[in-house]
Amino acid sequence: MVKRKHKPKPLKQRKIALERVETLFKEAEKAFKDNPKLSNKYVHLARKIAMKYKVKIRSPLKKRFCKHCYKYIKPGVNCRVRLGQKQVIYSCLECKKFMRFGYKKKYLTTSK
Ligand SMILES: [Zn+2]
Repeated sequence: MVKRKHKPKPLKQRKIALERVETLFKEAEKAFKDNPKLSNKYVHLARKIAMKYKVKIRSPLKKRFCKHCYKYIKPGVNCRVRLGQKQVIYSCLECKKFMRFGYKKKYLTTSK
């Protein structure tokens, strides 16, 4: 096998990849109610695309799947959300592991 150098993909392709990731998460959300397995498949595909094109998954989307078992998670359904002092703790009920997200400053300053 020839060792390939990692060249970043053209910007145009990466943009398309990002769009596809977004779409897959939207579809995952829609499918979740009737078919959670399908949602997991979409998450899997979205991650694969993101890795292949080296694009980052936006942070709001990162909270939509478990970083341990990569299953689609929905707060109140298969995920529990706890608010800590400086972080939000998501516990995935599928694999019983935790994920922590720090609060962002802009969330602290916005008043409800
Ligand atoms: Zn999990």
